[in-house]
Amino acid sequence: MKKFILLCFFTTYIFAKPIISVSILPLEYFVQKIAGTSVEIHTLLPDNADEHTFEPKPQSLLTLEKSKIYFTIGLEFERPMLNKFQSLFKQTKIINLNDNIPLIEKKHSHAHEGHELHSKDPHTWLDPILVKSQAKTIAKALIEQFPQNKKMYEENLTLFEKELDSINETIKTKLQDIKHNNFIVYHPSWSYFAKRYNLTQIPVEVDGKEPKPKALMNLIQIAKEKNIKVIFVQAGFAQNASALLAKELNANVVQINHLSKDWQNELLKSVNALENSLK
Ligand SMILES: [Zn+2]
Repeated sequence: MKKFILLCFFTTYIFAKPIISVSILPLEYFVQKIAGTSVEIHTLLPDNADEHTFEPKPQSLLTLEKSKIYFTIGLEFERPMLNKFQSLFKQTKIINLNDNIPLIEKKHSHAHEGHELHSKDPHTWLDPILVKSQAKTIAKALIEQFPQNKKMYEENLTLFEKELDSINETIKTKLQDIKHNNFIVYHPSWSYFAKRYNLTQIPVEVDGKEPKPKALMNLIQIAKEKNIKVIFVQAGFAQNASALLAKELNANVVQINHLSKDWQNELLKSVNALENSLK
């Protein structure tokens, strides 16, 4: 019996897949597209958590330490870990998927109070064309780490790039006949998407918090002028201001998820909602 248990232990140990860590679920989707089943993917941010205020659990950090690669997107919650990693855990390769992307500067109302630290907008993963460049970075890193799988990773990358091109075409087609360009979203995660498809995202949130009454009044004014009839909200974020806004504007509140593991379907669902509300 003892021998058997020992054997089981060794078998599990020898055949366990290498671990790859990622910050958010969309990155899990991207890595899975390239890596297939060759690795075990560990995602730091759980479902329905605010990606800007989250603190990872100790168990999750232990798994992170065992990872061969950590694909980060440079969110606030990752910064303390990145600092720690660079000095302590040299065996984990850290790859920032936003490194090769020209990032948009975020607007801050308190820039003079030292908030300029987080002044780059990190939400690149909702633009399929930027995802193509992230997919290339993922494939390159995986090939370096596991050269024996090079052929499979290259084939998967080609397939995924084709899928992303087709998603881009679908979005362009769906949005070609819209008459309005402005939409309201609680958490401003659609900057790169909006830029790609000539839309304007109007955020409810101010510097990561619910707006103060004055800011909310301004927003109502703008939304009335632009005749905005839809407000996107995200699970895990505050809902009070959005609810009030919806009531004032007689607008629909649509729940979207910018952090879904089901990246493609969720993105197209949001695009359908935009198509319907911007007609
Ligand atoms: Zn965000």
